[in-house]
Amino acid sequence: MTHCISTRGNSPSVLPGQALLQGAARDGGLFLMDRLVDLSPLMALHHDITKLAAKVFQLFLPDLDSELVTKAAQQAYAQFEHPDAAPLKQVGEDFILELFHGPTAAFKDLALQALPLLMAIARLQYAPDTGYTVLAATSGDTGSAAMSGFARASGFHALVYYPQGGVSPVQLQQMLSLCGEQARAIGIRGNFDDAQAGVKAAFSALRHELPRGQAFSSANSINIGRLLAQMVYYIKACGDLRAKGALKDGQAVDFVVPSGNFGNILAGYLVKKMGLPVGQLVCVSNANTVLADFLNTGVYDRRRVLSKTQSPSMDILVSSNLERLLYYAAEEDAQKVAAFMDELNNKGVYAIDEAMRRHINAHFVGVSRDDAQGRAAIRTVYERHRYLLDPHTALAYAALKQLPSTGNPKVVVATASPFKFPRTLAQALGREDLLADNDPLRALSRATGHPIPRALQGLMGQAFGAETIIDAQDLVRDVQRRVAAW
Ligand SMILES: *Cc1c(COP(=O)(O)O)cnc(C)c1O
Repeated sequence: MTHCISTRGNSPSVLPGQALLQGAARDGGLFLMDRLVDLSPLMALHHDITKLAAKVFQLFLPDLDSELVTKAAQQAYAQFEHPDAAPLKQVGEDFILELFHGPTAAFKDLALQALPLLMAIARLQYAPDTGYTVLAATSGDTGSAAMSGFARASGFHALVYYPQGGVSPVQLQQMLSLCGEQARAIGIRGNFDDAQAGVKAAFSALRHELPRGQAFSSANSINIGRLLAQMVYYIKACGDLRAKGALKDGQAVDFVVPSGNFGNILAGYLVKKMGLPVGQLVCVSNANTVLADFLNTGVYDRRRVLSKTQSPSMDILVSSNLERLLYYAAEEDAQKVAAFMDELNNKGVYAIDEAMRRHINAHFVGVSRDDAQGRAAIRTVYERHRYLLDPHTALAYAALKQLPSTGNPKVVVATASPFKFPRTLAQALGREDLLADNDPLRALSRATGHPIPRALQGLMGQAFGAETIIDAQDLVRDVQRRVAAW
């Protein structure tokens, strides 16, 4: 049976259901499947994403009850406004894979609706008496998606930490609206990397002092369950294109992905490894160019200042999921990966060798675009095609237009609804007047003729509880106090 192994090779392999519950491996590494399979036959299920997802989950979570897994897939995709969950639209000669039709209007929903249900199945199987606290650091979208997903999973609480002032007003309002018995959002005085470092510190400092019957898990993209769910829409997109006749024999699909933690694009790499016709994976960074620089130079250097951009979900210096790519690029040499991660921790920088670079460059291209280029793309695409891009997707679209032709169809992966970012949209469209309206979302909808996603309707007009704000260095104590009170 498939097991999950650590990228750092110093903890025993576990069954996949156990890996979902653990989040990260005990040695600090990330889980990967020890066996890859040919997934190309699954393209035939492209017209039914629920069936396709159930198949993927059954293949990689063989230790969980397959009927329950199928039900979880049905329940997860039923939460999406669009029946297709991940529709592929044609805009000009390019394609856009819309991943923002879920309950929080960002791509995180594609994984975070299913993951809590799968984890609940794993809990019943492996640890029915354990209460899990799911910790997450968020730059906006993970927080609300995790809160939405875990609110319905029994045996789980979600605690999400976000940088105060570092998320958009819509994202903040979403998180506040989802605060309840099972889910809390807490702002920290600091940036996303401070939140991520604090959550990691809480994991290691508190793991051994939790009250009996309590455990931690993770909803960040280090959890392998998120990767599994993200593989689904890459397979679907390939199948959709083939059915449309846009993917011919001998061609492959190039995906252009707005990236931060490198989780979304890594799922594209995994399906490519498992037989899907994927060509170039174009990793797009914003003004925080650490990923694009790494792909272009082979040096990962986090010793820089994080800038706040209009694409906050890509404002990041340490992209956790890159570790999984390093593992494959190093030909599964876990000791080598562990050494890079030590260097990153201790010196803030590491450099890979020629062989690894060749592997990575055979699949990935790194591009960065800045805020102004993003706004220009929003405006151009709206003027030409009446299509609205969100500020993250806009960077990918801007990158697409710079790429040399490969002869492959190209898919821009759209990661958020434009209605999550009305300020940037209004600025980009030269319609700052829309912001004076007491309901900017409605004003944007009226001006463009695009409907507000159901998930965001009425949200801005409501009053929720005030923000809870703490100092970044108090994060560990905050977690401890809240877990003790469950
Ligand atoms: C999370 C997110 C990203 C980045 O995805 P990664 O998997 O972290 O690379 C990009 N855009 C939006 C809107 C997001 O929410």
